Amino acid sequence: MSNAILANQRQLFGHPLGLYVCFFTEMWERFAFYGLKALLFLYLTKHHAFSDNNGYLLLGTYAGLAYALPVVGGLLADQYLGMRKAVTFGGILMAVGMLGMAYTGQAATPEGGADAVAIQIMYASLALVAVGVGFLKPNISTIVGRLYEDNDPRRDSAFTVFYMGINLGALAASLIVGGVGEIYGWGYGFALAGIGLLTGFVVFIKNKAHLMGQAESAHPELLEQKVWGLRRETLIYVLALVGVVVVQQVLQTKFDFDAIAHILGMAPGTQITATEVVAIVLTIALLVWWFKFIFIECSALERANMIVLMVLIAISAVFWGLYEQTYGTWLAYSDRVMNIESLFGFKLSASQLTSVGALFIFALAIPFAWLWPFLDRKGWNPSASAKFAIGLLFAGLAHFVLQYAALNPESNGLAGFWWFILAYLVLEIGEMALSPIGLSAVTTLSVPRVVSLMMGVWFLASAFGEMIAGRFGTLASMEKGTAVPDALAIYADVFSTLGWVGVGAAAFMFAMTPILNRQIRIAREKTPSV
Ligand code: GLN
Repeated sequence: MSNAILANQRQLFGHPLGLYVCFFTEMWERFAFYGLKALLFLYLTKHHAFSDNNGYLLLGTYAGLAYALPVVGGLLADQYLGMRKAVTFGGILMAVGMLGMAYTGQAATPEGGADAVAIQIMYASLALVAVGVGFLKPNISTIVGRLYEDNDPRRDSAFTVFYMGINLGALAASLIVGGVGEIYGWGYGFALAGIGLLTGFVVFIKNKAHLMGQAESAHPELLEQKVWGLRRETLIYVLALVGVVVVQQVLQTKFDFDAIAHILGMAPGTQITATEVVAIVLTIALLVWWFKFIFIECSALERANMIVLMVLIAISAVFWGLYEQTYGTWLAYSDRVMNIESLFGFKLSASQLTSVGALFIFALAIPFAWLWPFLDRKGWNPSASAKFAIGLLFAGLAHFVLQYAALNPESNGLAGFWWFILAYLVLEIGEMALSPIGLSAVTTLSVPRVVSLMMGVWFLASAFGEMIAGRFGTLASMEKGTAVPDALAIYADVFSTLGWVGVGAAAFMFAMTPILNRQIRIAREKTPSV
């Protein structure tokens, strides 16, 4: 990285202009991503008459792929494309996908007749979005880091600003895309998400000069080389389009696995999705690499750090499995069996209420920015693994709040609104204790030469979280028109299970904390030079 170029960047509020380009690009990308997500389950179950079971599974597999593919998009940008081209290409795929989502075809008839063509267009559109996210998301985040020297003290605050862009996009998406989609028509909501994405795309293209060449390919000559008769760059785009077709099929493929389901105690007829198979294969390959890497190429301290990091990453999947209920069971619960009251004078629809999460992130950002340094000064700052345990505990407790609300409905028989808001607050405290700490742990605990890959692995855990969330969601599947008291009983049961999953995982992490901390201490003593 050239010092002169970075030193001469134009600044605004003490940060290079490039940060604001990344901020707005990612804000609009998340606007599209979360707008689609806020509507998806309702759209599938109401417009195309998907069963709850299939709705939860598709939500989980689509979002799971969108978080798994950044591993590939990050690698391709590192090796060949550079970040700018990857972001541009990802933006185009996502925009086409969003506009494809806007084609909603015929609503399913009461007899269950569905519009097969519209559903195939939807699968293709979801595939375009997932592959697009894979190219865009990891790389726009890496550009932020590239705008600063390695030892620049503004780096952490740059990521904080960037995280706010993510949540601003998420907030606006639920309110605007969710509202328009539910009130005026699904297609209008998705189209609006697409327009948001195009806005981000224009911001990025028009302002790329502010990235000061930091997002360019490290090996432009490789892009020009001919492979199989095509320029390598063109070949990458062509293969990505083939990937879209593959993903379109993967999204709708399920396999019978009764033999294994039986051993796991699952109901007969339970199927495994192709996405889950892909994720499991990817994980096995990754673990083989990881074990080889830590035992052959790492010093004792590096190995200890990498083991701690892997435990954190693995357990984060459980957290996201609970957290992502917000776009699945929480959404269905608020739509079907809850009183919705006004919030700041507005009565929001179920998809719009998913904005409460981002709202609390804004409210909690400052207290948390103060809390950790404050505890640190007193010598009480918990280690990363203790913070993860706290995050899991709160994710569990949030579900107990909802269980209580479902067991104690109000006089009209529906669950109370403010319990739902309280559950979101508790859940977001959990997110603040875990998510930013996790990102920072990746950068500090990972061996530097594999840090991008480990960041990809961090997102891969989110992918598992999404799929786990889909599976948890299926526990709350119910027939259309289930009576409210029966539905409340089902939700109470599922929320209680999820609460115990969170508390159990938290107990595990609390128990692991002294072991993990000791592991690092011993390694440090053994490696005095570090
Ligand atoms: N909310 C954050 C984002 O969208 C993190 C999500 C995650 O890692 N699962 O970027």
